[in-house]
Amino acid sequence: MKDEKEFSFKDLPGVGAATAEKLELAGYDNLMSIATCSPAEMVEVAGVTDVTAKKIINAARKKLDMGFESGEDLLKRREQVVRITTGSKAFDSLVGGGFETGSISECFGEFGSGKSQLAHILSVRTQMPVDKGGAGGAVVFIDGEGTFRPERIKQFAEGLGVDPVETLKNIKVARAFNSDHQMLVAEKVEDLIKDGFPVKLIIVDSLTAHFRADFSGRGQLADRQQKLNRHMHTLMKIATNYNVAVYVTNQVMAKPDTFFGDPTAPIGGNIVGHNSQTRVYLRKGKKGSRVAKLIDSPYLPDGECAFKVTEKGLEDV
Ligand code: ADP
Ligand code: MG
Repeated sequence: MKDEKEFSFKDLPGVGAATAEKLELAGYDNLMSIATCSPAEMVEVAGVTDVTAKKIINAARKKLDMGFESGEDLLKRREQVVRITTGSKAFDSLVGGGFETGSISECFGEFGSGKSQLAHILSVRTQMPVDKGGAGGAVVFIDGEGTFRPERIKQFAEGLGVDPVETLKNIKVARAFNSDHQMLVAEKVEDLIKDGFPVKLIIVDSLTAHFRADFSGRGQLADRQQKLNRHMHTLMKIATNYNVAVYVTNQVMAKPDTFFGDPTAPIGGNIVGHNSQTRVYLRKGKKGSRVAKLIDSPYLPDGECAFKVTEKGLEDV
């Protein structure tokens, strides 16, 4: 992103001082963020008309010279992808060898199904070197439900024979108090990376709980989905631009109109589904085990596996 340094709002037609300030405040302070923003998003944050928004975005796109990427470049990018292992061989192979950098993975399931346990084990395992199934990097844990437990990190670190204190130092935890705050925290992760914190995993636990609570009124669904979409785009941009793994958790809600099959569905509908490259449904299994099911993967076969959560980590059954 070499052209970013030269960037000035003055180069974009239709951007006066007031608009520039609004864009900057909303975090649209470089060409990439403006070029990849949708006109509706810009209308919302900068208060410009739809026509002006399109003009600004197009100008940013021209300057950025986004152009095309060859298949070879894409393959090279795919080769940079690292898979973070869970400790359960069955779970790893279900998701194609582990949780991938460069994309968003989602686990959804009912209370107690193991979503937060997985968040904790990934926070430890991401720090392992690549040849030991990690990504050799640090972690940002966005905690929306107050479920982050340093004691659990310590146990998992000890289970892997690594220093618990060092492991905890490499996890930056941010409590998110509502959906707007959560969105802001996610946007700030890029600053951490630019400041040299070598992030390889971002956890958002839970992705949807605050959105569900903050937009529960009648007629608020569209607003909620739009904000969730923007939130996921922020995460997606960081994932692709910096080759970072993003792991989000999601709850399920009852589907009142189900006659066959599972009577629950993940929150957030298509918005969350389309933005997660890997979706896993977690549920409780027999004798305290857990069952993970891969849903609608673009390139992996659907499948199911059992695993268990122990004091030390995740294990095969
Ligand atoms: P959620 O999907 O709601 O985030 P959690 O990830 O918090 O669910 O899972 C909670 C479950 O994890 C507990 O019910 C328990 O079965 C298991 N668990 C938590 N801590 C331990 C531990 N130290 N040893 C074994 N299992 C544990
Ligand atoms: Mg949880």
